[in-house]
Amino acid sequence: MERKRIALSTPTMHGEEMTFVQEAFDKNWIAPLGFNCDKFEEETSAYLVGKEGAYHALSLCSGTAALHLAYKLAGVKRGDIVLCSDMTFAATVNPVSYEGGVQVFVDSERETWNMDPKALEKAFEKYPNAKVVALAHLYGTPSKMDEILAVCEKYGAVLVEDAAEAFSAEYKGKKMGTFGKYNVISFNGNKIITTSGGGMLLTAEKKARDKAFFWATQAREPAPWYQHEEIGYNYRMSNVVAGIGRGQLLHLDEHRDAKEKIYRRYEAGLKGLPVTMNPYLPYTKSNFWLSCLLIDKGVNVKPTEVLEALAKENIETRPIWKPMHMQPVFKHHDFISVEETPVGEDIFARGLCLPSDIKMTEEEQDFVIEQIKRCF
Ligand SMILES: *Cc1c(COP(=O)(O)O)cnc(C)c1O
Repeated sequence: MERKRIALSTPTMHGEEMTFVQEAFDKNWIAPLGFNCDKFEEETSAYLVGKEGAYHALSLCSGTAALHLAYKLAGVKRGDIVLCSDMTFAATVNPVSYEGGVQVFVDSERETWNMDPKALEKAFEKYPNAKVVALAHLYGTPSKMDEILAVCEKYGAVLVEDAAEAFSAEYKGKKMGTFGKYNVISFNGNKIITTSGGGMLLTAEKKARDKAFFWATQAREPAPWYQHEEIGYNYRMSNVVAGIGRGQLLHLDEHRDAKEKIYRRYEAGLKGLPVTMNPYLPYTKSNFWLSCLLIDKGVNVKPTEVLEALAKENIETRPIWKPMHMQPVFKHHDFISVEETPVGEDIFARGLCLPSDIKMTEEEQDFVIEQIKRCF
């Protein structure tokens, strides 16, 4: 018999989700917009900045849609340079192209695997007119915010924070998704909490939220007929889906703690092997969305070999995000690094994402660790 699959990260439902979904059915709030959307936005905002905090959230059909609206709000226009995280999922940077912007990729540093503030500074020296920075927190690990924000401020740039993977993570006690002028989280199926698919745009500016709402609902002008003065989108989250999100939000911290436990078990279990775990800064609180390993330099084992060996045991692992400057679709785009060998390329060549599903049992995780050991 084939072993039960050990997955990278799958949805974990609890029951309250159905209660909110049922309520939507009972009241026939099936149309997009409605009570669950309003509440989900309120509750997400309260989670991030507290009930008193003035934060404006907009629930949308995906994190990618939220990023698109964030770039529009940031004023990205045809030909504008946007300085982007290089090692990230393509969804961080694709929406820049929707607006005709041009991505310039900024290398990672080794302490968080996120955008290197020194490389960002170098990028601004080359592109002093760049007005927008797109920053992702990889695998739930907070970036070097003080340094990144200082560079953004120095060059008067707007920060778009892609916290899609980092919901519940913190930097010096402040939640990720609250550092940028415009911020994004994702509720895609494999994220720390999920609505099956969805995203949220977050901003301290009510006017920006209202504008994004306008774009997300087909840009209908306030007139007695269908009046349009701008191009709009159909980007809203459905009220049914928002019900799932409300139920999931009740378990976000519990998910985070379970993710950390998984990370710690790998950390202990892989001791003695020529590998390290994905690093984070001591004064930050990662959400440990995915545990990753990095094979030591000079060791003759490739991550693809580990991936294949584990796949034979029905264990799902994934390569590290392939840096954007290595992607054929962006081959004509500039890439800025302060290292001789780009950090992102090196991590991509030596790294691997490990099963981080919070339903994985300790026995299953020990089996994963055992299989990894056999590769060395
Ligand atoms: C998942 C993800 C997104 C996109 O979110 P969707 O909700 O899937 O559209 C954006 N950026 C990063 C870094 C992600 O991991």
